[in-house]
Amino acid sequence: MDPSGLHDSAELMRNMRALCGEERSALCDFLCGLSAIENRQLHLSLGFPNMFELCRVEFGLSEGCIYRRLQVSRKIKHYPELLTALRAGQINLTLASLLCPYLGKFAWSELLSRVAGQSKRSAQKTLRDLAALGEDSQTKVRIQYLGKEHYSYKLKIPASLHHQWERVKELLSHQVPDGDLQSILTILTQAYLNKNDLQNKPAASPDLWQHYSSPTRYIPKGLKHLLLEKAEHSCQYISPEGRRCTQKRYLDIDHIIPISAGGQTTFPNLQVLCHAHNLLKSDSIPSPSTNHNQSDFLIPERPAALHQPGRTMKLSWTKDKRPAERVR
Ligand SMILES: [Zn+2]
Repeated sequence: MDPSGLHDSAELMRNMRALCGEERSALCDFLCGLSAIENRQLHLSLGFPNMFELCRVEFGLSEGCIYRRLQVSRKIKHYPELLTALRAGQINLTLASLLCPYLGKFAWSELLSRVAGQSKRSAQKTLRDLAALGEDSQTKVRIQYLGKEHYSYKLKIPASLHHQWERVKELLSHQVPDGDLQSILTILTQAYLNKNDLQNKPAASPDLWQHYSSPTRYIPKGLKHLLLEKAEHSCQYISPEGRRCTQKRYLDIDHIIPISAGGQTTFPNLQVLCHAHNLLKSDSIPSPSTNHNQSDFLIPERPAALHQPGRTMKLSWTKDKRPAERVR
């Protein structure tokens, strides 16, 4: 901005409006870029478990900023009118984000006319009223961060679940006489983790499983446990730049050389991948008809194979259509 313009109020306002226009335009370009990155799955090959992590690490955006940008960028492909309205300044990013759940359920012209120029709170109320008219039932859980110690959860549940919950309260009436929801949730969560979470339990008989070998796809529980432990309970994908994926959800046990290509169910031939990276691997593998020399895909010594940048995706040479073993 020209500093001399600051002395003239009219000029100052003109400059500020121009800057806002440039910012809007840059935002729209940024949203298109996010959409392109996600369509190309570039975030996965760069070693990020999802777009959120890429935006946080690569672009330094805050959680709220990321949420709104991703929400809108995922809609603009099918609803380009959203981007047009943003670019024209009819709505801002907050309003665009609020509109996302209603796109396709109501006519765009009606949605735009109802929220254009409104504040966030006013637009929320307008859209809630519109949803009530259309008998739209949103059952998503609303989670609110209340500071370091607490979160607030708000959800709508069906009557059948409510009756089951009442039964749980009856069964736990000795432990929780007042039926306190938080106390019961704590008990249930702890019981579930004790039963299912392998993270804090050491794998049994590691020597046995390290030498296990089977030609079938079945992966015994003890071997899965050992693999997860060695993978530190997260995806083992490493990008060519050396970034290790941090995903701890949707984990699959993947045969590095598929059973269909002569691979075995052995400790060295198995790795933990998140579902997204497992799919990426499937997509990046040439079809069986492609003439590849199998020696190009020899498995290096474990664990080096999993910790060398860019090696993980080169280890298999044919698609195995059957789903991988899901562990989380
Ligand atoms: Zn991953």
